[in-house]
Amino acid sequence: MLPAGNPSMGIIDIVPTPAPELTSTPEPTPALQTPPVATASLEPAVTDALAAATPDPNVGLPPQETPDPSKPMVALTFDDGPSKKTERILDVLEQYGAHATFFVVGIQLEKFPEIVKRASDLGCEIGNHTYNHKNLTKISPDEMREQINGVNRLVLEATGKEPALVRPPYGAGIKDETVKANVAYPLIMWTIDTLDWSTRDTQSTLEAIRKDVKDGSIVLMHDLYDPTAAAVETIVPELIEQGYQLVTVSEMFAAKGIALEPGKYYRKAFE
Ligand SMILES: [Zn+2]
Repeated sequence: MLPAGNPSMGIIDIVPTPAPELTSTPEPTPALQTPPVATASLEPAVTDALAAATPDPNVGLPPQETPDPSKPMVALTFDDGPSKKTERILDVLEQYGAHATFFVVGIQLEKFPEIVKRASDLGCEIGNHTYNHKNLTKISPDEMREQINGVNRLVLEATGKEPALVRPPYGAGIKDETVKANVAYPLIMWTIDTLDWSTRDTQSTLEAIRKDVKDGSIVLMHDLYDPTAAAVETIVPELIEQGYQLVTVSEMFAAKGIALEPGKYYRKAFE
């Protein structure tokens, strides 16, 4: 799916930007300067009428940062991006004030850093999926650390924050002592595998979620495909309607009181 590339490609060439510059003067993201399409395409009078007809006290407020532990929650997760399809998914998350977690690969982040910045600004979590989608069980400890640290630097550069979580490509290595000893982050697996990368089918992706979703689930998707983005457009409002809070992985485990520890792996936030 992803080009194999040169294993060392880019890693040693990355010039980290000093963190203070990142946090003190964030560049505005072009996507954020664009007004929402829904209102931009309306005549002013129509916009005013809509605003008057549907007053919403939450407009302009950031999404709820702390999930309510007494209510059910789900963590949607997206691997292998960012890509141009990520923006369609972010549009949905933004519209509903929902959060998700994006496990990014370095070679994609280098192409679309502004998309990762937008996701982070929307309250989404950026996790680490290695620099070029390496099976961690097939590389040396040195290369493992390069794969992880290289992406951490890129995410810090793009968003001002470092990832706190790793999802190993192919889910490989979660029981491998060498991996767990050298990847000093919680290893996040999934509860529901939608197989969206294989089916490329919206209905099949939706059914996989509907069949097994429950409080504390981690859902695996990939932000590379239009059928996946279409599924997100349906499932986000559907889950919210069912009472689920759509939260990041870290938010969900914090709300459930489950500590995420380095070198351990997690499939779900329920017993
Ligand atoms: Zn992957």
